[in-house]
Order: sequence, then C-alpha cells, then structure tokens
Amino acid sequence: MNGAGRRASSGPSIQKVPTKPRAAAFRRASGAVFVARARAMGINNSRPRGDAALIDGKAIAAAIREEIKAEVDALKKAHDGRAPGLAVVIVGARKDSQTYVRMKRKACEEVGIVSFHKELPETATEEEVLDVVRGFNADDACHGILVQLPLPKHMNEERVLAEISLEKDVDGFHPENIGKLAMKGHEPLFVPCTPKGCIELLKRSGVELAGKNAVVVGRSNIVGMPAALLLMKADCTVTVVHSKTKDPRRICREADVVVAACGSAEMVKRDWIKPGAVIIDVGTNGVDDPTKKAGYRLVGDVDFENVKKVASQITPVPGGVGPMTICMLLSNTLESGKRAFAA
Ligand code: NDP
Repeated sequence: MNGAGRRASSGPSIQKVPTKPRAAAFRRASGAVFVARARAMGINNSRPRGDAALIDGKAIAAAIREEIKAEVDALKKAHDGRAPGLAVVIVGARKDSQTYVRMKRKACEEVGIVSFHKELPETATEEEVLDVVRGFNADDACHGILVQLPLPKHMNEERVLAEISLEKDVDGFHPENIGKLAMKGHEPLFVPCTPKGCIELLKRSGVELAGKNAVVVGRSNIVGMPAALLLMKADCTVTVVHSKTKDPRRICREADVVVAACGSAEMVKRDWIKPGAVIIDVGTNGVDDPTKKAGYRLVGDVDFENVKKVASQITPVPGGVGPMTICMLLSNTLESGKRAFAA
C-alpha cells in the first residue's frame, strides 16, 4: 500500500468498458452488465476485432467505495454510531508521502471511516515512532494502522512494521498474514492492498481464473509474490518471472492472464502477449515528457499502446490498479472494524 499513493487517475481515451454517465459506469462496474460483457470477451483467443477493452480501475474503485460506504453506514447504525477507524503514521515532511497520506485520509472521510493522524518530525527517534504505534495498538477506536513508508534512514522499518498488532495490519505485510496467504487451509486476516486490488479488478471484469495460466512479472513482498499466491488460491497455474528469469517473453506468451509488477517502464511488449490475454499493469514509472507541465508522464510496466492491440482486456496507467490500492485499504479497515465489533 505504501508505494501506492503516488498514482493519479485518469485513463487514456481508448475504448472504455464503463462509459459515462457516472451512475451507469458504477452500475456496470459492479453489476451484471459489466461482468456479462467482459465474460463475452473471455480470455480465450477469440478476441473481438479492435483494441482491448479497458479495465477501468477508477470506475470499479468508485463502485467499491460506494459498497464500503453502505457497509460503514450499516455498521454505524448497528453500533451506536461507531465507525471503523484507520490510523496513519507519517514521519518527516516528504512531499510525496504527505500527498499519499492526504489521499488516504480523504478516502476514509468519503466512506465514513474515521481517520487518525499522527505526524512526527524527521528527527523523531525510532522509539518515539514505536510508542505511537503501541498507542494505536491499544486504542479500541482504531482498527487499522498504517505507517507511511519510507521512514527516515535512521529507523529500522522492519522493526516498526513488526510492532503493528496483527489484528490491525491492514497493509497485510505481517509475515504471519503472508504465511497464511501461502498455506492451504489458512486464511490471512488481511491481504496486501495492491495484489488484492488486482484480483478484484479481474473478478469484476468477469475474468474466470480457475484453470487459467497466469504469469506474474515481479516477486516483491508487497506486489508480485502475494499476487502470485492469490492467483494460485484462485486456481490459476502460476509462473513467476523475475530479474534472473531466462526468456521471459516465451513464458509470458503462455499466459491467459499477465500481472506486470517489475517497475521497468513498458518492458512487457506486444510480442510477449498471447492474443486474447488479460493484462493487469501494476507498474507506475515516470518517464521524461517535455510536453507535460510536470516534465514527465506516468507509464506502466506494459507497452500499453501496442499490447492493447492483442490483449482482450487491459488496465491503463494511470487509472487502473492505482485507484484500487487505496480502495482495498478501506476494504481491509472495514473488515477489521467488522471483526472488532462482532467480538
Ligand atoms: P520492486 O522493485 O520491489 O520489485 C520488482 C520486481 O520485479 C522484483 O521481483 C524484480 O526481480 C522484478 N524485475 C525487475 N526487473 C526485471 C526484469 N527486467 N525482468 C523480470 N523481472 C524484473 O517493485 P514493487 O513490486 O514494489 O513494484 C513494482 C511496480 O509496481 C513499480 O512500478 C511500482 O511503482 C508499482 N507499484 C504500484 C502500485 C499501485 O498501487 N499501482 C503499488 C505498489 C507498486 P528480482 O526479485 O529478481 O529483483
């Protein structure tokens, strides 16, 4: 989750699955029309003529936020106005971290989740940060804790993250949560937000995963590895490509579903993709672009313009996986709140 706030969110103007007006887009994103159309497209080789359908993460995330808001409202009604709470801890004044934290707080506010905020100066000691985490661990009004990364260099991130109580680990990075994700017969309390968002995009786009070949490009703890575990749980046959993999193109060409999370701008090319495959592009890379005010633009790990010509469905960057990540943080916080209220 922590790598995620950086994503902005408007998609390129190719053929979109959900279209305006917004209400219709929400209905399609969460309902039968969306699924039926995507299903009709399938992930087989019989792709309709023309470009891939766009998996519109913005519209799907908006639909999920509506669902979360409805659940939060219902919880509040049933529990004397108490709502799930998310604590965000930020250390130092990095502009990007401040922006992500602002986005997370705003997202909480929109769905009725209470957000707690603790800001510490760059000069804070590790012990001070640990004390803040311990305070939120003990606070019954707080159901999720997120420490915004990166922490200042003089701190041990692993130690700080390990201090977060397992029941409030809404980022899902605790080794016990990851371990349970990997084990048959076990369920983690939380699933890491970005990979959870990838699976949600696939499901809500009507992609049937059981029996499909999935390739995940990247094996990081926060994206690639948990994405591969989730796809395996969904009965895909999963191959993981990493920096030492020989001939990734050949391996990717076998895939019905590709999840690209290698942090290398537009590395996955058109000739890596089997016609009709579904592409989830997690990558967010800034590339120089003097035509943009900021001097750069964001691209994914997939060569979108060319890959969309062979894929059946594809996420854009921005506007694909990015909007889902914060949404899944809200979803994890809601789950945690529900568990706490039911206890
Ligand atoms: P990491 O740098 O932690 O991991 C990258 C992974 O890709 C590693 O496993 C690495 O292999 C593999 N890799 C790197 N180069 C190659 C290559 N040439 N061929 C095959 N595999 C390669 O990145 P993250 O997992 O944190 O993030 C991946 C991307 O996703 C980034 O662009 C990041 O910005 C983005 N991201 C987006 C989020 C969102 O919400 N949209 C959230 C989080 C990340 P090895 O293990 O061998 O080094």
